[in-house]
Amino acid sequence: MAETAADVPRTGPVLGVFAHPDDAEIAAGGTLAKWCAAGRQVHLLVLTNGDRGSSDPARDRAELAATRLAETQAAGAVLGLASARVLGIADGELENTDVVREAVIRTIREVRAETVLSVDPTAWFFEHRYYNHSDHRRAGEIALDAVYPGAGNPHYFSEHLREGLEIQEVHDVWLGWTNEPNHIEDITGFLAMKIDALAEHGSQLSEGIRFFQESLTEEAAKAGASIGVEHAEGFRVLDLS
Ligand SMILES: [Zn+2]
Repeated sequence: MAETAADVPRTGPVLGVFAHPDDAEIAAGGTLAKWCAAGRQVHLLVLTNGDRGSSDPARDRAELAATRLAETQAAGAVLGLASARVLGIADGELENTDVVREAVIRTIREVRAETVLSVDPTAWFFEHRYYNHSDHRRAGEIALDAVYPGAGNPHYFSEHLREGLEIQEVHDVWLGWTNEPNHIEDITGFLAMKIDALAEHGSQLSEGIRFFQESLTEEAAKAGASIGVEHAEGFRVLDLS
């Protein structure tokens, strides 16, 4: 694989931008845990509250949202995140609007994110097995639009500057859940943490963690084999610096 921004060791703050409370762990939990362990300040912004993440028609959506917020915080503690925040947008209703981009740009500026990690908005189909949730595609699109043109430009949400925030240039963007990875990140030693963090999302694990334990291990082993390590995660990495 050609050299990418991922091959330049980074140490600055990171912002993860995902659609649902458990997306970060599934898409990139090993990499996020690795960065936390390396001393990077890693923050998470979840754009919807996950209140449709249940097949039980009697499940109260507000209660589910509250449960998922608590699960997100617990999972973040397992990964070692510096912060984890969940916006109040309803699950399944994520749109790329000024309001959502403002929240992402504000967070990029607040945490001084040098790296943004999200998901590939162009990934519609995964083999012939399933296709991507609309919230996932939109989360990737929102993250990219917030990075550029947005966080680094003083004329986007200039009220932030009047409040004392500064513009923030993001150096590199990592997109998981991609069909076009240009970088495979070695997460050997961090797979257990990824699975332990995901296990905190108990509301999504009616069948237990076993399915994810097996499927994520298989996926990590396959990616790892491609670069000669035990476990890895694939990304499309963009070097914007
Ligand atoms: Zn999701």
